[in-house]
Amino acid sequence: MSLVGDYDGNNIFAKILRGEAPCVKIFENDEVIAFMDIFPQSQGHCLVVPKNTQARNLTDFAPERLGALFAATQKLTKAIISALNPDGVIVTQFNGAPAGQTIFHLHVHIIPRYENLPLQRHHEGKPADIDTLREQAKRIAGALEN
Ligand code: AMP
Repeated sequence: MSLVGDYDGNNIFAKILRGEAPCVKIFENDEVIAFMDIFPQSQGHCLVVPKNTQARNLTDFAPERLGALFAATQKLTKAIISALNPDGVIVTQFNGAPAGQTIFHLHVHIIPRYENLPLQRHHEGKPADIDTLREQAKRIAGALEN
């Protein structure tokens, strides 16, 4: 069952965290790394991924680390609003395959919404142009408060 089980250290986010796979990084600190989603549901869709954990989902993450994870999520959300000027923002995460989870390392989605622009379906978006993602990541990083 995907909701409970053992952590697979070969998942793509674990590889990104180990530097074995690329990502379009926005920022990182001791607790998290944030990077662009390569199949964005909207312009500026990004992910916040906790480091140094084998949490597959929210239920097995250390509760004392939740504050740092959501502080980073808030910081990035504010930077996205400042950089990309969306009309709304979805902050979400999925637990277990039937809920939509495909990568079993805990992560939070930040998905900007723009009035009159439809949202791509989860997992059905097209792969993004990497140069476009890099440009967005640069703008978002530039809007981060220090
Ligand atoms: P979830 O379905 O909640 O597990 O979300 C996983 C997300 O990771 C999806 O939105 C994918 O588009 C995204 N994704 C998959 N592989 C990569 C990757 N190599 N770099 C960035 N995002 C990825």
